[in-house]
Amino acid sequence: MKKPFTLLVVDDEKQNRTLLTELLQDDYQIILAKNGVQALERAQSHLPDLILLDVLMPEMDGLAVIRALKSADATRHIPVIFVSALDTPDDEERGLDLGAVDYVAKPFHPPIVRARVRNHLQAVHQRRLLEQLALIDSLTEIPNRRRFTEVYEREWRRCMRNQRPLSLIMLDVDLFKRYNDTYGHAAGDAVLKRVAAAIQSALKRPADFVARFGGEEFVVVLPDIDAASGWQVAEKIRLAVENERIPYPESDAGPWLTVSLGGATQVPHGAEVDANLFDEADRYLYEAKASGRNHSVWSPATDPSTSVAA
Ligand SMILES: [Mg+2]
Repeated sequence: MKKPFTLLVVDDEKQNRTLLTELLQDDYQIILAKNGVQALERAQSHLPDLILLDVLMPEMDGLAVIRALKSADATRHIPVIFVSALDTPDDEERGLDLGAVDYVAKPFHPPIVRARVRNHLQAVHQRRLLEQLALIDSLTEIPNRRRFTEVYEREWRRCMRNQRPLSLIMLDVDLFKRYNDTYGHAAGDAVLKRVAAAIQSALKRPADFVARFGGEEFVVVLPDIDAASGWQVAEKIRLAVENERIPYPESDAGPWLTVSLGGATQVPHGAEVDANLFDEADRYLYEAKASGRNHSVWSPATDPSTSVAA
């Protein structure tokens, strides 16, 4: 069975490395480092979940190592437990001041080391769950707007670097307020869940991304997709929702519940992520609404018939 957590054990004495390995290897994946430089290298390349760090080491000591770890974005969040023969309160205070989460004196008592490691990893696990939850929309259980912003910026930069097209779809449920007023908010919530699932089912590539933007609005990011293919994805989404056959005879676009979609495509340029693409997609969403709903409208600046080659 794959062990869920990786520990980096740093100590210049082989005997200590062996002791800690024997103590922890049944429960965790163990990586070893025998000096400060190696510790930094392995922390960067493996991004362990926790580091057990010796203080007294020749050349680069544990205090220098933790300073370097805390000054690098990739490693600053990794909890560090000092394991040290320096055991005065001053030593401990200095270690904690530098950002260590705990301080264990050598010679250590094995069950205590094991318990402290377990407790700190429990905290790591809980923090990660919270981080994930903070990016998920609680009703539809798809990514939320905050997550969209991260993904959109990342894909913008990636497509800019590779000079590839980036497509974006804004969509919303047609006459959703009327649906809520007619059938009640619980029914409205249930519909949003079904629409979110239908959109997801229409997206086939792993890189395609959908988020709930807010209310009855959704946003889809399609990296590496030109206007012609983007418009096809929009139509697939539109049909997937219509094919849910959610009764809505009161809708002007009825008898089923439908969505309208606006799309735009750009090969990103310039260093900054700009709002252009987003504004354009939003504008064509309104056009789709104005032209009778249950429509996909793609920006004519990237007319599907004159699209860039995929
Ligand atoms: Mg030492």
